[in-house]
Amino acid sequence: MTSPSIETICAHLGSDHDGADLGPFQAPIVQSTLFHLGTSAQAEELFAGRRKGYAYSRFGNPTVDVLAQAYAELEDGAEALVTSSGNAAVHCALSIALRHRGGPIVAPQDLYGGSVELLRVFASIYGATVENVDARDDDAWLAAVGRAGVVLLESPSNPLLRLTDIAATVAAARAAGAVVIVDNTVATPYNQRPLALGADLVVHSTSKYLNGHSDMIGGCVVARESLAPEARALHKNLGATVNAMEAWLILRGLRTFALRMEAHNRNGRAIAEWLAAHPRVRHVYYPGLGAGSHELFRRQMRAGSGLLSFEIDGGKAAAQRFLDRLELVLHAVSLGGMESLATLPSATSHRGMGAAERARAGIDEGLVRFSVGVEAVEDIKADLHQALAD
Ligand SMILES: *Cc1c(COP(=O)(O)O)cnc(C)c1O
Repeated sequence: MTSPSIETICAHLGSDHDGADLGPFQAPIVQSTLFHLGTSAQAEELFAGRRKGYAYSRFGNPTVDVLAQAYAELEDGAEALVTSSGNAAVHCALSIALRHRGGPIVAPQDLYGGSVELLRVFASIYGATVENVDARDDDAWLAAVGRAGVVLLESPSNPLLRLTDIAATVAAARAAGAVVIVDNTVATPYNQRPLALGADLVVHSTSKYLNGHSDMIGGCVVARESLAPEARALHKNLGATVNAMEAWLILRGLRTFALRMEAHNRNGRAIAEWLAAHPRVRHVYYPGLGAGSHELFRRQMRAGSGLLSFEIDGGKAAAQRFLDRLELVLHAVSLGGMESLATLPSATSHRGMGAAERARAGIDEGLVRFSVGVEAVEDIKADLHQALAD
């Protein structure tokens, strides 16, 4: 059989494909801290790495391994590490990359607020050099990548949905011997495959589209090539692992991932176009919408996903009034769930970034971030229509 499409992978995720062991179709939930080690000789085999097996669930767990395998398949990677959150995934990936090469860490200015704050931890506590670059300026970006030891980027970025040319970044990074980490949370592997474009590591907040049910915090790191044992040990030693029950719940969410993304892509595009035509909306940020980003969008993404941002006439006060008037759409942070969500990044997800850095990154104080859900698109439009009315 040729390699299956993402819809097929999702439909069969976590199951016993060939039934060879006559076991259950679904992955068993192995909710156990510890495992029998057997005889001293068997324990020696296991800990020396000569026998595959389990000892302690922070080192490895059968249910979590099924989830790791699923993430690797979805991103077309050699292997994946499951982490307890998206921030833990970024922490783990940066640590693996720094171990390999050292800094400086180069990143665009427009990044998820939690990643901006984490980079500050790397700078202030670990003493890493961090350079935040305006990635809209291609020449400045590629020049900075050429000086980097580690590159961390989001494309599309959160919250401004800016696209960065992953293949061009990889080419510049290769010349410098730098490791490229792409946060693929917003695009998801349904719409974009950074590893196929040459990125070394992909990270996700699986709290968003991959789990998709707004009932879980999780993350993962997926590697293009097999990780060195020392890199795997870093994941174990940082300790941000998950329990079997959580891993199983995410596997359950993943079964519908392709179906959900089809709906998010369709509704995202429709709402972006509708907002762009609204007289009170000043600017809409959505991948592939508006002049400038078409060529890169087509080359790099299958569709635009379900996240967009926009500015309303009247700035922050008008944006707050809009949020307070929403009836169907929830005023809440996060993204990627089945329900539509709206928030003001300057007051929530990107608050810790600080006003000066937000201004430098181009994040307006009145910018509304909107995660388009899978509701009937006419219902979303009706709520936006009433909330935007004079
Ligand atoms: C939410 C998010 C994160 C952090 O993920 P958590 O699961 O909240 O720790 C990282 N990157 C992006 C792009 C995100 O949207």
